[in-house]
Amino acid sequence: MFKLDVNNLYIEITRRCNQACLHCMRGPGQNIDLSSENIDQLFNNEKFKIENIDTLFIMGGEPFLAKESFVYLLQKVIKQDIKINCLICHTNGLIYDQDIIDLLNILKPKTDVQLYTFHDQFHQNISPLNLAQFQKSPYYYYEDIKRSLKDKKKTILRTGNALKNFGMNEATHEYLQKFYMYNSSYVKVDYEHDDIFSTENLWINAYGQVASINYRYVDGSWSQIDHFCHFKIKQMVNHLKLQAITKNYIQYVVDSVNNLDQLDEEKLQQEYGLLFVQELKNALINEEIEEFRFNIDDIYLKSMQEKLKVRSLYDTHSC
Ligand code: SF4
Repeated sequence: MFKLDVNNLYIEITRRCNQACLHCMRGPGQNIDLSSENIDQLFNNEKFKIENIDTLFIMGGEPFLAKESFVYLLQKVIKQDIKINCLICHTNGLIYDQDIIDLLNILKPKTDVQLYTFHDQFHQNISPLNLAQFQKSPYYYYEDIKRSLKDKKKTILRTGNALKNFGMNEATHEYLQKFYMYNSSYVKVDYEHDDIFSTENLWINAYGQVASINYRYVDGSWSQIDHFCHFKIKQMVNHLKLQAITKNYIQYVVDSVNNLDQLDEEKLQQEYGLLFVQELKNALINEEIEEFRFNIDDIYLKSMQEKLKVRSLYDTHSC
């Protein structure tokens, strides 16, 4: 078993929602919650153990609609004493649930919990009773972002409902183009040291599929998210390992490029498995080593640069 550190873990706990906001970055809601089996696969996997999460994003849809999954997830990370630096959840505030709040209270001393609702022209107003209850939590943030519709429309990410209702804007168009370019079929390993692997971003959708964060903005609708999620959680470990090994080995191949004929395929296969050899051969045959390296090494920096831009779009968005 190896340890896995995740910088940003995005968990789509549900696709249900009790609103249908015009600006929503998702398409129409779907009756899907993340199952307890998938949560177990993530946190009780026999092959890897998540010990540290810098920021855990619990996302929807409307997370408070999926009480069972939400509670199961919180109980799991509390019981396993997973180190979570920050937990962020956006809710539309139409449902207040004391059981969920109690679990967030348990996390609070060690984790910077942030629970947000929004007061803007798109969401329904929160009832005074719910507002009063939410306001008792020291980690509750009530964001008043009633800017003019014109200003707001400039900044929202035009995907999902927003794309349908407002059309594409230049910033989103530019952004999506870039992410098409940086599309990669790997969950990215940023470093590996002995038995510790680290990944910058992991996105788990409500079906329990895994993708790198780069995928989720390509369109933003639910179906696109599914389309770009290639792995089930249990497969993720193999890809992480494969990628880490590939990264080291491709570097070796590139360094000894004059000796490609001497590669011992059988030995490689014994050591790294058939899939690795196939990947390597494809890269060599198609002379894609440079591209391969680009996928593994440069995508991180480039995606981080792009992410900064996107955050400014995304942060103005809602749930
Ligand atoms: S923006 Fe939030 S509240 Fe509105 S439809 Fe989307 S997920 Fe639901």
